[in-house]
Amino acid sequence: MNIPTPERQTILTGDRPTGALHLGHYVGSLRQRVTLQEQHRQFILVADLQGLTDNGSNPQKVADNILEVLADYLSVGIDPFKTTICLQSSLPALAELTMLYMNIVTVSRVQRNPTVKNEIAQKGFASSIPAGFLVYPISQAADITAFKAGLVPVGDDQLPMIEQTNEIVHKMNGLLPAPTLVPCKALLSEVSRLPGVDGNAKMSKSLGNAVALSASPDAIAQAVSAMYTDPSHLRVSDPGKVEGNMVFIYLDAFHDDAEYVAELKTRYRQGGLGDRQCKNVLNDRLQTLLAPIRERRAELMQDKGYLMSVLRAGTEKAREQTQQTLVEVKRGLGLPVFY
Ligand code: ATP
Ligand code: MG
Repeated sequence: MNIPTPERQTILTGDRPTGALHLGHYVGSLRQRVTLQEQHRQFILVADLQGLTDNGSNPQKVADNILEVLADYLSVGIDPFKTTICLQSSLPALAELTMLYMNIVTVSRVQRNPTVKNEIAQKGFASSIPAGFLVYPISQAADITAFKAGLVPVGDDQLPMIEQTNEIVHKMNGLLPAPTLVPCKALLSEVSRLPGVDGNAKMSKSLGNAVALSASPDAIAQAVSAMYTDPSHLRVSDPGKVEGNMVFIYLDAFHDDAEYVAELKTRYRQGGLGDRQCKNVLNDRLQTLLAPIRERRAELMQDKGYLMSVLRAGTEKAREQTQQTLVEVKRGLGLPVFY
């Protein structure tokens, strides 16, 4: 992991509560967050409002997943004493900042955002794009800037959001008597886009190609067994291709012994190593990684009162910071503030 500066920074990351978190989140951001919380001032936003932007008619799905995501956080080692975990919909300053920023971003600029474009196509919105969905990058800019975060650990699908956030920072600061908003940098992990188990370019909750952190041992084994390998590797003795082979992509992402994986690759390329054997190695690794997470998660889900209290406390702490930024921006724009 590559942390640009050693000094303590403010960090904001988050996830949409649209389903249980998965292996893509683990390598893309969760394991980084566990390290970052030791050294930095870290906020994690459960982005329920953003989850609603493409689930407007299914609010129950988003509501039900809030505690699931929280349980995922705590079960991988995010510590609520070190990281402030908060709920987007209970931080009204974020919605207000979104309203203010929407006036300095054009519709064509949001339509040009490649991730938004891609998601619109994937979700089949055609000409019926919810207005909230189209402007979600603006609301993400509000989230990041409200916390004055300088560092944003994300997967690479989020890079266009960071770029757009910095444009807003620049424009808004130009309207204020003194620079108030802080530009941010993306922090990419070594595996910034884990492909889905179906071979799709990104494992995603919405694409049905994910292995959840809470997956049962059988579900893990099944996902590994169905993974796409090298279609021309028909017999064990045939030389096989490692590039584009899902099993090796996952071994690179999850196995902690890089030398051993390199040795497997050499044997696979030469011929003589079967897909079954490689899949067994991957399955063992994933089972070992996920078993303690699953256990801890099941325990946490027994105590929803505790989970709720963690979220409430974090949200109250975050409210102070976000409200303060909002007031600075409003005053800077010359608006009277009556609260
Ligand atoms: P949805 O399909 O509902 O958008 P998602 O699986 O894309 O869900 P998000 O909550 O949108 O998950 O993403 C949260 C964070 O996790 C983002 O920083 C995103 O870049 C990162 N992330 C999500 N999927 C992956 C992945 N497959 N590889 C690496 N990072 C990922
Ligand atoms: Mg997403």
